[in-house]
Amino acid sequence: MTRSGAGSLSLRALFAVLCTAGSLAALSPARGSDVAPLEVTESAAGVFVHAGVHEETTSDNLGDIANIGFIVGEKCVAVIDSGGSPAVGRALAAAVRSRTSLPVCYVINTHMHPDHVFGNAAFLDAAPRPRFVGSVQLPQALAARDEHYRAALAAALGTSSDSLRLVPPDLLVDAPLRLDLGGRVLSLQRWPTAHTDNDLTVFDETTGTLWLGDLLFDQRIPSIDGSIKGWLEVSARLRELPARQVIPGHGRIAPPWPATLDTQTRYLEQVVARVRDALARGLTLQQTVEASDAADASAWRLAEGYHRRNLTAAYAELEWE
Ligand SMILES: [Zn+2]
Repeated sequence: MTRSGAGSLSLRALFAVLCTAGSLAALSPARGSDVAPLEVTESAAGVFVHAGVHEETTSDNLGDIANIGFIVGEKCVAVIDSGGSPAVGRALAAAVRSRTSLPVCYVINTHMHPDHVFGNAAFLDAAPRPRFVGSVQLPQALAARDEHYRAALAAALGTSSDSLRLVPPDLLVDAPLRLDLGGRVLSLQRWPTAHTDNDLTVFDETTGTLWLGDLLFDQRIPSIDGSIKGWLEVSARLRELPARQVIPGHGRIAPPWPATLDTQTRYLEQVVARVRDALARGLTLQQTVEASDAADASAWRLAEGYHRRNLTAAYAELEWE
C-alpha cells in the first residue's frame, strides 16, 4: 500500500545528510556515494518503478509522493518523472546507477505537477547531459507556475525558493514521438486536456508497459487541474490501448487494468453527475460543495481537500454547458 519502512528510513537519512550540509541548495551535485538510492521495483524486464507515499509534500518525505522510475535500453536509460524535489531526483539518479552503468539519455516528464518535475534539476549536470522531454504544452505551463511552484515547495521543505529550479523540456512532443534506447523503443504521446493540459504517456513497446502519469490515479484521489470532460474522453481512448501493464502516477505499481481506470472513471462521472444536478437545481458553487456527499470520495486516500477542489473545478467547467 505504501512504501516500506526501510525506504522511508533511507530517505530520512538522506535528508539528514542534506540538512548537515546546510541546505538543499548548498549541495554540489551529489556523487553516487553520497546519496542513498530510491527503492525501486522491476515491474517488467528493464522497467524500474519507485512508489511514492500518499501524503502531501513535507520536509520529511521531501516530495517523494509520486510514482517515478526509469527504463533501461541497450544504449541508455530513460527516466520517467523525476520526483518532487532535487533530493528525490538525486536519489532516483542513484537508483539508476545502482542498476546500470549506462547514461541517462532522456528525462521524460508526464506533466507539469511539482511532484513529477522538481527532480529534473538533479540530472542537469550529468555527462552526457540528457534531453528533457515533455508535451509541447509543458514549457508554458511550467513558466506560468514557476514562481508559485517554487515558493510552495520551498515552504514545504523549509528552504529558499531561490535554491529551486524548474527545468523545462528541450525536446517537445507534439505528434507521437518514438525514442530509441538501443534495442528498445518508447513511444510518447500527448493528449488533449485531461488531468492537465500537458499530459504525456510513455509506452514501452518491448514489455507493453504503459506509463500513464497522473492520467491514472490509484488509491490516492484524482485531482482535476485540466478538464473533467476531457479526462473522461481521454480515459475512453486509453482503455483501448494494448497495454500489458500500466504504471499510474500514484498508487500501486501495475494495478489491475483496466479495472483501476474504471474505478477512476466512476469517480469522475459521479462528480459530473453531482455538479450537473446542482446546476439544474440552481445551486451556487458554495452550496454545491457544501451539499456534496462525502461518501462519493470516502474510498480514496487524501480525499478531504481534493474532493471539494474537484467539485469546484467541475462546477467552473460545467456551468457554461
Ligand atoms: Zn498531477
